[in-house]
Amino acid sequence: MSENTAGQQDEQGRDEEQAPGLQPLDETGIERILLVVAHPDDIEYGTSAAVAGWTSRGIGVGYLLLTAGEAGMQRPPREAGPLRTEEQRRAGEAVGIERLAILDFPDGTLEYGLPLRRAIAREIRGYRPDAVVAGSGDLFVGWGIDHPDHRAAGLAAIDAVRDADNRWVFPELTSDDELEPWGATWLLLTGRAPTHYVAVDEEAEARAVASLEAHEAYLADLPWHPKPADFIPEILAGTGKAAGVPRAVGFDVHRLRG
Ligand SMILES: [Zn+2]
Repeated sequence: MSENTAGQQDEQGRDEEQAPGLQPLDETGIERILLVVAHPDDIEYGTSAAVAGWTSRGIGVGYLLLTAGEAGMQRPPREAGPLRTEEQRRAGEAVGIERLAILDFPDGTLEYGLPLRRAIAREIRGYRPDAVVAGSGDLFVGWGIDHPDHRAAGLAAIDAVRDADNRWVFPELTSDDELEPWGATWLLLTGRAPTHYVAVDEEAEARAVASLEAHEAYLADLPWHPKPADFIPEILAGTGKAAGVPRAVGFDVHRLRG
């Protein structure tokens, strides 16, 4: 039993009880969700359990990867890139996504900037998601100091959501690519203390485990890496505990429009 019983407070007077007030994400009106990340496998450390739930409820899901992860293995980038692309395709299949785009920004030296924002805004305008999922762009995340590519991808995605909705920012997207502005309603950030949760059932958990297992050659390069089936359920159960459900995925949720 927890020592944090009701009414206990720390010296600042804050209640020590665990993460009260996590709200369920209201999926009403959400038809499409786009997840923007830097690398193959970034979505498969828990988030793909929410994806499995979304696709099972008829929500379309697209992934935008900004790099092919070519610098992430022991073998040379020219071999690793295509291998990881294929493994990501299978990981997406495991949770039922309908769209996968992998761009060729450089893995390991991804830079926040206008080219990245433009590329993400282009995908948002093309896919027209109601919600965009991205990293927080923060230096410190729950597990330590975040990877520079993750920080660049998160910040650029957050800004690109706004860019995509303004026809005078990157006007060539309208004039050359014939992509009209698009405003997503929701921004869901990972890597921060969650405000909302998506409850996950056992089937979605199993599909999430399978999605990480799909990165077979990548994981084989990491002998110390725990087996997906041994830790993905733990991650989901941990967030579930804070949410008051058996298992869940948490997001820091921002509503961008009414
Ligand atoms: Zn990564």
